[in-house]
Amino acid sequence: MTKVKIGLEVHAELTTKTKLFCGCSSAWQGKRPNTNCCPTCLGLPGSKPRVNEKAIEYGIKIGLALNCRFPKETFFSRKSYFYPDMSKNFQITQYEIPLAMKGYVMLDKKKIGIRRIHLEEDPARLVHSGGSIAAARYVLIDYNRSGVPLCEIVTEPDFESPKEARMFLQKLSSILEYLNVYDSLLEGSMRVDANISIDGGERVEIKNISGFKQVEKALTYEIIRQVNMKKRGRKIVQETRGFDPVANVTILQRTKEFESEYGYIFEPDLTRIEIKNLNKIKKELPELPDKKLKRYSKIVKKEIAESLISDPQIADMFDVLSKRFDPHLVGIWLSGPLKKTLNYNNLRLKDTKIKTEHMERFFRAIEEKKITDMMGEMILREMVKSPKKIEELGTDFTRIDDEGSIKEFVRTALAENPKAVLEYKSGKVEVFEFLVGQAMKKSKGRADPKIIRKVLEEMI
Ligand SMILES: [Zn+2]
Repeated sequence: MTKVKIGLEVHAELTTKTKLFCGCSSAWQGKRPNTNCCPTCLGLPGSKPRVNEKAIEYGIKIGLALNCRFPKETFFSRKSYFYPDMSKNFQITQYEIPLAMKGYVMLDKKKIGIRRIHLEEDPARLVHSGGSIAAARYVLIDYNRSGVPLCEIVTEPDFESPKEARMFLQKLSSILEYLNVYDSLLEGSMRVDANISIDGGERVEIKNISGFKQVEKALTYEIIRQVNMKKRGRKIVQETRGFDPVANVTILQRTKEFESEYGYIFEPDLTRIEIKNLNKIKKELPELPDKKLKRYSKIVKKEIAESLISDPQIADMFDVLSKRFDPHLVGIWLSGPLKKTLNYNNLRLKDTKIKTEHMERFFRAIEEKKITDMMGEMILREMVKSPKKIEELGTDFTRIDDEGSIKEFVRTALAENPKAVLEYKSGKVEVFEFLVGQAMKKSKGRADPKIIRKVLEEMI
């Protein structure tokens, strides 16, 4: 068995209103290139950075949520490197004393160590023509992103498989969303460097991977590559590789540079930062996914609880509605049909206009049996598009339970499916459910299924 050791460096973009050292907006996505910048985030001579206090607070929140320890004070340093994504030829980051350190995250029963958490400015975005460095004939630079606060979270090399790494990233992303400091759906909001070694050999770093599944894929490929190298008797060297998500392979970028080569120096334009208000911030932390999962698992099935907590807004809604209606019923609808519809449209609850009061009316209608389950699913589809109160959805969504109308649906269903009727009569009883479905379709999902069954039994 190959022994795998993986460590992660996660860069999460923080959703503060402004950038880390200037007043430009942090929401750089979707803007015309190079319109969201100023002398400071362009690094023009004479410009002076000022620390965004909110970013520090967000970083402290993350540190607290990941069970970290904090120094009394910290400071920023300049990391010197020459690359067009950083026009002043250094990045303002933290090196000597990070904002937080020595924390952990529980992955089921396994403890994943958090080595350090620090803040730094995001570099500009490079757009390679042709999509990759290898294929590019030229490179475009968009400074809209430069200076956006990044929180770098460095783990200990505690992962033993690519799958564990993916699970950790999902969990981390969920924690950050609960803290309301990060938005997982924004382009490039989480970028990962993964280092991996097999059987105690040299460490290979895979740089700048976006997306949890991509991280898993890149690491899986890298294990195979290293195992094959060893089989052929070749030496694995310490190097930096990139991941090509199209070809699904990692590619050599450069042999590894060492931290000392960056020539870190204290950033003289900024003052030291005192870490304060720890207790106050701790008290204001929201209930985090692990704790929520425990609490929910006591009232609904674990799979439902897990699904509910994966979207903080759905969890909030569950908290309110499960007190007013049967928690099991609420759990099933929110974690099942509602989430399915949201996922289908690539939305989260907060991207829609659905409010708790809409869902309250919905559950009342379900409880009073005014709508069937099938109608319920159709109503949710409508609500995700544009939320309306049940009453406003009109008669198309009311349940039909008078036998006269239902007989009509059943009669049509029977007339249109003579073959199925014959099959049923010759003993193929499972056709019955098919005919129920056909009659239900005729009612556009509005008929009471119990009455359909009763009428069908009488009429067939
Ligand atoms: Zn700026």
